[in-house]
Amino acid sequence: MNPKAYYKLTYGLYIISSKSGDKMNGYIANTAFQITAEPPQIAISCHKDNLSSSIIKDSGLFAISVLKQDVATKLIGTFGFKSGKNIDKFDSVDYKTGSTGIPIVTTDCVAWFECKLVQTVDVGSHILFIGEVVDNSLLDENQEPLTYTWYQTVKNGKAPKNSPTYQKPKELKETDSKSEFKKYECIVCNHIYDEAEGDAETGIPPGTRFEDLPDDWVCPTCGAEKADFEEVK
Ligand code: FE
Repeated sequence: MNPKAYYKLTYGLYIISSKSGDKMNGYIANTAFQITAEPPQIAISCHKDNLSSSIIKDSGLFAISVLKQDVATKLIGTFGFKSGKNIDKFDSVDYKTGSTGIPIVTTDCVAWFECKLVQTVDVGSHILFIGEVVDNSLLDENQEPLTYTWYQTVKNGKAPKNSPTYQKPKELKETDSKSEFKKYECIVCNHIYDEAEGDAETGIPPGTRFEDLPDDWVCPTCGAEKADFEEVK
């Protein structure tokens, strides 16, 4: 069995959102796929431990927002690596209220679909939610949608632990004692800050020591603070 074979399955990346009572929530999913055209039905996969899973079950509603290719990594951090149990993820994004009353994220998205739940399938760790599309919108015809491959290779993205495609990180090699630069790992999302490489996305030049990073520097993948990084030994 070669775990890399799974990387050859292609996916997009989406924000799935819903609302039950006053509680809104959303998460990042790579599994959203149209399964029928008449009527239009789309399936998504949600981890049972995710807050969204119970919200979708309660409300019978969910929306899918299709992320654009140059999405801000922080948006993925907020919706993919933080729990709505602790924060209101919608504080930092633009969203509209759909015809069914649920929130639909529009920030950095190219299209969205609003769905009524018609069937659920228990698949062990996850639940498949099948929804019928009741409304949709094309927000930007000219922008490319983000693919999972692009996210992994170009944005160096990681999968959250509850993602169907999460793979346990390999044991990190011991830092070469001769190496001048150290590496630090985000305990939230496993993002590696490599002093030798710096961090182009946040404008940190190569060779910047971790201790010299600005105090307000945050993990480019999940938004965790400097204090949430540990040196890779
Ligand atoms: Fe992180």
